[in-house]
Amino acid sequence: MAKYKLEYIWLDGYKPVASLRSKTQIKDFASFPKLEELPLWGFDGSSTKQAEGRSSDCVLKPVSVYPDTTRKNGVLVMCEVMMPDGKTPHISNSRATIVDDADTWFGFEQEYFLYQDGRPLGFPEGGFPFPQGPYYTGVGYKNVGDVARQIVEEHLDLCLDAGINHEGINAEVAKGQWEFQIFGKGSKKAADEVWVARYLLIRLCEKYQIDVEFHCKPILGAYQEPLDWNGSGMHANFSTKFMRETGGKDYFEKLMAAFSKYTAEHIAVYGPDNHLRLTGLHETQSIDKFSYGIADRGASIRVPHSFANNGYKGYLEDRRPNSSGNPYEIASRILKTIQSVPTA
Ligand code: ADP
Ligand code: MN
Ligand code: MN
Ligand code: MN
Repeated sequence: MAKYKLEYIWLDGYKPVASLRSKTQIKDFASFPKLEELPLWGFDGSSTKQAEGRSSDCVLKPVSVYPDTTRKNGVLVMCEVMMPDGKTPHISNSRATIVDDADTWFGFEQEYFLYQDGRPLGFPEGGFPFPQGPYYTGVGYKNVGDVARQIVEEHLDLCLDAGINHEGINAEVAKGQWEFQIFGKGSKKAADEVWVARYLLIRLCEKYQIDVEFHCKPILGAYQEPLDWNGSGMHANFSTKFMRETGGKDYFEKLMAAFSKYTAEHIAVYGPDNHLRLTGLHETQSIDKFSYGIADRGASIRVPHSFANNGYKGYLEDRRPNSSGNPYEIASRILKTIQSVPTA
């Protein structure tokens, strides 16, 4: 038997964006614990906007488990929040009832800013660095500073050690802005991994005295004046089995008609304050328009060249979800719209 450190992670009741919370319990296991071996646990929901003080217990139900190589015998346990009966999903539980399908694949491109002293890393106090241009995929101290790369590299290793399907990293368009990509089969699996990857990044940054800013448009002028600095998205790439294996132009056009029809429903779960980001500038379409186009980074949905060249088969990129969006809700909405379109 060995003593394992189980870090139970959950989403709190804050709005419009849930924050990550976690706490540790120690349990004996003969070897690295399987999901079925992990017990339910509880927490004080009155401290997380999930309960009143008079009846404050909420239940943590483990839903996925990952090795945590920062600790001896460390385990990351992603949880859903349940009511005291342990069976009914809590109202803040955005995972329990989503649409899922293991044959629908998602690739999330999580963009974010590293922040220190209330401003993006590398921004001078009270001013702006050299304008956008050299930073995207840039190299060199003047472009990326001296600590960001160390953070994103360490984060990559933590994710890979955890078994998270991390697919890549790039420096982004704004100074201090980065991206990582997570791919997963099924809404829950892909979204769990995004949340755990976010958790690992936020926790890793503590020792650097840096925070992760997930807001979709953190750099604005006075009175939210738009400035020439990119916002942060979380592009959602998706493909169903049918899209990968059969597809076709006719089906694609029906699919895009459905996405157009449900524009408002999609925007509703694509992250708060998206009107500040989806302006039609900075590689976005305006929030009130729906469009698609081959290789078009100014469209709501970008159709990769490979998709069009391959008989309208493969994956599509919805560019509207933002960096602080909830990947459970985003994946579920995409799948719901896809399921409204007959394949025959
Ligand atoms: P870009 O920055 O050019 O938009 P990225 O390389 O950052 O592209 O992201 C592409 C994403 O597409 C990756 O997250 C990848 O996992 C995802 N992806 C690739 N193939 C598929 C597929 N068949 N289904 C769903 N997602 C996919
Ligand atoms: Mn990308
Ligand atoms: Mn990007
Ligand atoms: Mn993209």
